[in-house]
Amino acid sequence: MSSENNRTNFIKNIIKDDLASGKHDSIITRFPPEPNGYLHIGHAKSICLNFGLANEFNGKVNMRFDDTNPLKEDEEYVNSIKEDVKWLGFNWDNLFFASDYFDEMYKRAIVLIKKGKAYVCDLSQEEIRETRGTLTEPGKESPYRNRSVEENLDLFERMKNGEFKDGEKVLRAKIDMSSPNLNFRDPVIYRISHSTHHNTGDKWCIYPMYSFAHPLEDAIEGITHSICTLEFEDQRPLYDWVVRECEMESVPRQIEFARLNLTNTVMSKRKLKLLVDEGVTDGWDDPRMPTISGVRRRGFTPEAIRAFCNEIGVAKADSTVDSRLLDHFLREDLQQKAPLAMAVLKPLKLVITNYPEGQTEMLEVENMAKNEEAGTRMVPFSRELYIERDDFMEEPVKKYRRFFVGNEVRLKGAYFVKCTDFVKDENGEIVEIHGTYDPETKSGSGFTGRKVKGTVHWVDANNCVPCEFRLFEPLILDNDPENEGKHFLDQINPNSLEVLQGYVEPTQIKDAKPLDKFQFVRNGFYSVDTKYTTDDKLVFNRIVPLKSSFKLESK
Ligand code: ATP
Ligand code: MG
Repeated sequence: MSSENNRTNFIKNIIKDDLASGKHDSIITRFPPEPNGYLHIGHAKSICLNFGLANEFNGKVNMRFDDTNPLKEDEEYVNSIKEDVKWLGFNWDNLFFASDYFDEMYKRAIVLIKKGKAYVCDLSQEEIRETRGTLTEPGKESPYRNRSVEENLDLFERMKNGEFKDGEKVLRAKIDMSSPNLNFRDPVIYRISHSTHHNTGDKWCIYPMYSFAHPLEDAIEGITHSICTLEFEDQRPLYDWVVRECEMESVPRQIEFARLNLTNTVMSKRKLKLLVDEGVTDGWDDPRMPTISGVRRRGFTPEAIRAFCNEIGVAKADSTVDSRLLDHFLREDLQQKAPLAMAVLKPLKLVITNYPEGQTEMLEVENMAKNEEAGTRMVPFSRELYIERDDFMEEPVKKYRRFFVGNEVRLKGAYFVKCTDFVKDENGEIVEIHGTYDPETKSGSGFTGRKVKGTVHWVDANNCVPCEFRLFEPLILDNDPENEGKHFLDQINPNSLEVLQGYVEPTQIKDAKPLDKFQFVRNGFYSVDTKYTTDDKLVFNRIVPLKSSFKLESK
């Protein structure tokens, strides 16, 4: 995996300096998701970064669930997150829950109170917001700001003991209501919430706020480099304040990097949850979702995702990455892994009128393009085949090289077939085409007598497996779905899913299991669906089509 991790970046430089100067002997990073939803590709960037750094510098990495908000968190999310990180190919050194530190955090809050650096405030959430001031105006001090240490200790304990209702009181850090950094204007650090926590049950009814809890979690675990996304840059002074004023022994350093955004999708658990709750998708693992579980079900590989994360690198400025870049890495990876097979997605019957009825022959075809080691397989061929509807035209357009009456075409791995006529039903729809084959032209026979311009794939109608193909387009139409006050839910692509009933050759497929991947000749890369596939029905998800006009800028 080291070759995947070959790019240098500003975070690596900081770490190298810290190791060289002796500030640290070794590093500890962490990946700290809140278990309030499923992980997405954006998280993969953070995972690759944190686990990658720990691997590269022989350090350690903690998997930590940042579970300080009882209302949104759930065991289901904890389990999916663990599964996703492992699937991406990473192992943590320690697994922690922030909620295991509630006792320690409570003690540290008391340290603050005793130093006169925190107070219990009776203002409502709204009043606190209103008195916070603006970028140009200072905030107003709370009338409760000068409570005595004794009173604060007493009230905070009673908050903990459940004597007050939700929202009745909060604990605030006492810093500076006129600080130019709004985060310093007496931020709330504890609030009351009488709700059951997925880990601590009903033990607590006060919960620490993120900006207080997170630095403590990092310090408790001895994290050396706490890597987070850019929106936390303004919070860094508060982060440092909490570590210092709570008298933590270990001092972590927060470093911010740009979050990953992708075109034509949204990437926040909260927004993805909306797509699920509104029924836009059929769950978190819908193959159109940018969740790790969604792309896994769709057939993406961890190798491709890691290569993509390495390519996009780590920057200090937010940007949106073209999702076709990820497709590019998928093709590169799948090209080497997914065996070839022939599948017909929109079938049209082709009858070879001069081929003996009742006869079937087995043709030897290669398993992988450009890879002889992958060997060959035997594919049945008989008088009745299926080809793609689009591979026949009654009135061929200019330069059309596939089937039309009078034209000869190569059936991949089989024979040349000349189209002779076609049959329409009473509605005028073409239901069948006819042709004749030339036994001399058998693939691999060295025939050089004449050339044809078109090659099409096919399956043997008498020996094929009916199956369903699910083709995906971006879930969201806009490249930048939240620009200019737009709402992403208003821009859902109504055609993001196309379901087709077709056929696939039997040889490769009869033992196919969920998540097995194939390159269907001319059709793209497909993976067996985990949810809709049954003993009686094979369902394939299209991972990516074969070609794209997209070019990697750096290559
Ligand atoms: P979400 O809005 O999706 O819930 P979050 O930032 O609240 O995202 P957490 O679960 O708290 O998500 O994040 C765990 C880690 O993943 C954090 O360190 C966070 O900075 C990082 N992360 C989340 N989204 C992205 C992204 N799009 N790109 C890079 N890192 C991300
Ligand atoms: Mg979040």
